[in-house]
Amino acid sequence: MSTGFLSVDLDALATNWRALDAMTDVETCAVVKADGYGLGAGKVGRALAKAGVKRFFVAVAEEGAELRQALGPNVEICVFAGHMRGDTDMIGDMMLTPMVNTVGQLTRHLEALPEHPFGVQLDTGMNRLGLEIGEWASVAEIALAQNCRLVMSHLACAGDPDHPMNRQQLDQFHLMTDGISVPRSLAATGGILLGPEYHFDLTRPGVGLYGGMPFADAQPVAYLDLPVIQVRDVEEGETVGYANAWTAKRPSKIATLSGGYADGLLRALSGGANLYHGGQAVPLVGRVSMDLITADVTDLPELPGVLSILGSDQTVDALAARAGTIGYEILTSLGPRYARRYAGG
Ligand SMILES: *Cc1c(COP(=O)(O)O)cnc(C)c1O
Repeated sequence: MSTGFLSVDLDALATNWRALDAMTDVETCAVVKADGYGLGAGKVGRALAKAGVKRFFVAVAEEGAELRQALGPNVEICVFAGHMRGDTDMIGDMMLTPMVNTVGQLTRHLEALPEHPFGVQLDTGMNRLGLEIGEWASVAEIALAQNCRLVMSHLACAGDPDHPMNRQQLDQFHLMTDGISVPRSLAATGGILLGPEYHFDLTRPGVGLYGGMPFADAQPVAYLDLPVIQVRDVEEGETVGYANAWTAKRPSKIATLSGGYADGLLRALSGGANLYHGGQAVPLVGRVSMDLITADVTDLPELPGVLSILGSDQTVDALAARAGTIGYEILTSLGPRYARRYAGG
């Protein structure tokens, strides 16, 4: 075995879903876009369906079609990209629920699949997807008289509870939707944590399910161990890796491990991250290269066969901070070369 080993704890995933579900009195759905945040949409989706999820969200129709094959007919699968040109057959055949974003998408949907369920995405200030207030005013009556299953919007700053944008978007969502009888949704992981005012009829957590911030109490779901290919002694003054980026300040033992930026170990981690061995931090030294990283194992009491880079010792957010990014990017960058194992579920 020469690749890294990615272990996904499906019981921890279900525990995180139940914990987020317990924070509200409303339906808790699950976002499994980008292949279940990099952890495998089919496996993750099946475990969540078993835990009680009835409604899933994906980014694009193609993801929805794949998820439908994994989950069968008894769950609802909603598509954030809405009803794109060319997607009608897939939406119809795979029983997907598009969250329409524009008047053009709404028209396309009602003309092509008149009885087929859909949802509406509203822009409350993020200016990314959804109808603006004037557009919504002009089509709301038509849309709500059809098979509209959900009206939703998305928060731009929910990870920062004190940000005034949260209240501003909440007020705008009320202004646009108060009085309608169709279920409403505003909250993703961050919105759940903002409190009941933000919960409406259903929530759409993603990252918190997978062990990421802003859900600080999440259990880790992804565990990544990298095998040591070789250990060598280097003398004081010798250098390691591309661009001679690290120089030994003492006689050192350097382990070379399988895994590099092609596997989602971002090059920005170069020289600034740790790996772990039995709870003890082991500094990554030198540049991250495509397939390999190097770590200084001089202070370990024994030579390790593997080192951990993600898990209980180092969360996705801790690793992300070392690379100047967010947990979401660490998860969704995990490459295709790892041997994957799913535990629990
Ligand atoms: C990605 C996404 C979510 C999930 O967000 P998390 O921060 O991962 O919980 C919910 N809604 C929309 C519209 C999204 O794009």
